[in-house]
Formats: sequence, C-alpha cells, structure tokens
Amino acid sequence: MKKIVFLFLTFFISCALFSQEYKRIDLKFNEITNITKGEIDISADSVVAKTSFLLETKPIFCDFKNGFTGIAPLCDMFSTQKDSFFVYVSVSKDSSEWSAWERIISDKIAKKHHFVGLLTTEEGFHFVKFLWNAELLPENQVVIKNFSVDFFYSGKSSPQMIQQREEVKKRLDEIKKNASNQKSVPCPPFLTREMWNCPEAFPTNYTPTQTQVSHIIIHHTETRNSASDWMQEVRTIWQFHVYTNGWSDIGYNFLIDPEGVIYEGRDRTSQFVDVVGAHALTANYHSMGISFLGNYVSIIPTNDALSSSYELLGWKCFQRNIDPEGKSTLTGNSVTHTNLNHIAGHRNINNTECPGEALYNFLPEIRTKTYNLINGIPNEVEQFRNLEIEILPLRDSNGFSLSVLNVKNLEINIRIFDISGRILISKSFSKSVENQSFTNFSKGIFFIEISTLKQKIVKKWVNF
Ligand SMILES: [Zn+2]
Repeated sequence: MKKIVFLFLTFFISCALFSQEYKRIDLKFNEITNITKGEIDISADSVVAKTSFLLETKPIFCDFKNGFTGIAPLCDMFSTQKDSFFVYVSVSKDSSEWSAWERIISDKIAKKHHFVGLLTTEEGFHFVKFLWNAELLPENQVVIKNFSVDFFYSGKSSPQMIQQREEVKKRLDEIKKNASNQKSVPCPPFLTREMWNCPEAFPTNYTPTQTQVSHIIIHHTETRNSASDWMQEVRTIWQFHVYTNGWSDIGYNFLIDPEGVIYEGRDRTSQFVDVVGAHALTANYHSMGISFLGNYVSIIPTNDALSSSYELLGWKCFQRNIDPEGKSTLTGNSVTHTNLNHIAGHRNINNTECPGEALYNFLPEIRTKTYNLINGIPNEVEQFRNLEIEILPLRDSNGFSLSVLNVKNLEINIRIFDISGRILISKSFSKSVENQSFTNFSKGIFFIEISTLKQKIVKKWVNF
C-alpha cells in the first residue's frame, strides 16, 4: 500500500513539475539584427551607438508546446545619458500577425543585469521580437552587451483550481459586504501557495527569514491589466523572480489581482509569522510587500482590488499594532528610512516609478479606508477620525508628555505597557488630553495604548 501511495505521489509531483517550462536563449547581435537606423556598430557580442538609434531584431522562436506565458529580456546596458534607453517588445503566435510594440521597464531590484523586465501573455505565443531605441544628445553613447531572453510557461490552472479560486473570492466578497462591527480584523480569505499551484521554493532547502512587520510597501507588478487566468499569471511572476532574478522564491509577500482575489506570496510558516521578501531592496526587513497585479502608471486600480487591499492591510495593521495613517522609521537591511508612512509606495524607498502614478495617488485613500476598517468606522461616517496624538519626551524626568486632541468629548483610555506586556499605568480621561505628564520610567521600550469606544492606537516610546 505504501508503495502505491509513493508511486502516486511521484506521478503527481512530476505532473506539477512538467506543467511549467523555462528556457534562456543567449543571442548574437549580428545574427538577429533586422532593421537599424542611426550610426550603430554591431558585432556578435555588442552594440555600440554614438547617435540616436533604433534597432529591431528578427523574430526569436520559443519551442514550448503551448507557447510561453511570459518573456524577460536581459542585457547589460551602459549609457552616458540617463533615461535615454528604451526597450519595446512585440509577440506573435505565428510570426505573421504581431502585437503592438509595448515598452518594457527595467526592474530596478534585480542586480545581476543592468536591464531586465517582464512581459506576461496568454498561452499560445511562440515568437518575440525586440526594438531598442535610444534618444541621444551629441557626444553620448550607448553600449549593449550580453543579450538573452528568458521564456516562461507556467502551466494551465485546472478546473478544480479555478473552482477553488471562485469560492475564495465569494467568501472574501461576503466579508467585504458585511463590514465590521467586529472586535478584530481577521486575515481575509486568500489563495494559499498550494491553491495557486506555486512551485516549491528554489532551492528546496531555502528557509525564509522571519521578521516583524512595521511597514507595508505597495507595488504593482507592471504587467498586463487583464488576463484569462490570474493564477497562471502569478506562477509566471514566480518563475521570473526565481529563474531570471535568481531569488529563492516569489519576491512579494502578497499579491492582489484586479478581481480582488488575494494570493499568498513568499512562503511563511503560519499567518502569525512575517517573512522577509524581495521587493524593496533596502527595506525588505520589517516590511510586507503587497503587489497589485497589473500596470498602474495611468490605469487606476479596480474597486475589487482596492477593497481587498483594505482587508489585507487591516488584518496586518491590527495584528502588529500598526497605525495605518502613521509614520515611523523603518530600519531595513542596510539603510534606515526615516519618517516613512506605515503604508508606503515602493517609490518612497527605492528609485522606481512603482507602484505607478495612478495607484500611488490612491495611497491616502487606502490608508484612511484601512484605518476605518480597523476602527469599525463605516466608510461614510468619519466623525471619529482625526485623533491627533502628540508625544513629547521629557528627558529630565525620564518620561513624556501626551496630548490627544480633537476627539469630541469621547472618553479616552490610556494604558502604558512595558516590553513584556505588563500594564504600568491605566488612566481614563473624560475628554481631550492636554500635556499630561507620565514620568519616572526606567530605560527601555514602552507601548502607549490610546483607545476610545471607536478606536485604538498603540504608539511605541523609547526611554533612551
Ligand atoms: Zn515595486
């Protein structure tokens, strides 16, 4: 019996493995060049241009049975003029009918290549061609070297998986409709890695690094905004992160598709554990990366995706006592980011356009809606917002002075905890608190919990 089970398992695992394909093709410039304009010096290994130029490649063929679901061009690119170099891509099923040229933006996180970007597609495409274009001012030059293309095929989602996704979406929609009078914000239903058929972490002995989230970083995947199979799209992004970027696993901690379905990203052991992703270069520690599937430079995110983000953010902010509208310092792996919004855009940390201008403009609304969700405030009624808190250190007396303003005569409860969770002080005030002193603390970290009937905020305070 054991043997049969083992055989069955082997068969199942092989099927899962064979459903995806990956291939890298290294190309020689002088063999693939088709059309050029401008003064260009083309050899097998490099392209050197001293004027503005345009170079189009011949069609490059990928022999996957069902075509590719994603391609990633990679090259080393050196330009003496900033922001002068553009890469466009076009795909075809049969090499006669071609898609419109689409610009590929270089993913600035990947260090291994100077230029690397991703284009995702439906199944059935076998051909790709590229267009390089540089607009150079006099006495500048561009050098391109080491050109390769990565091809991905991430497998079809089975009818059972599609059914499961529908069920998860239905449960999430139900929760959104019955917005809360709850005392906590539970983790919203999402597709687990098993449900979207995520391949094993790579290499398989990879163990995620645990961290504790203090900030949430919003991204977009910079890929297409409509797809017939979003689970397949997530798997293609996994392939890009693992095979092209050389990461151990998908970079984001969570992803949200335009229909509002949430996907578990980087592996973690339980919902109580935060793990370090690969999404914000200098700020992967202590942060959670949430990526909206799609490109939101000029297209606004869907209501379904936004409302799912409130649930996901609300859960994490509630769990980790993060004020969604607050700011604090994020100590990343190497760099300290001061005064960073607890819910920030990728561009607030690294030199990138991510999460796209249109999505970035929604961040204030995302923060407010998340805040309201945690505090049980229906989104139309916001009279309890604007709880303004000011904490000023009183160095000489080892304490601080606290003001809580603008709360319209609500009773305010203040509790102060030490790092082990012991309550040191518990006090109630019948209305706004003005310059109330709390003194004689020992050195160390303390938590100040400020709550009203409608909301609870916890601030960390350190007595240095
Ligand atoms: Zn990003």
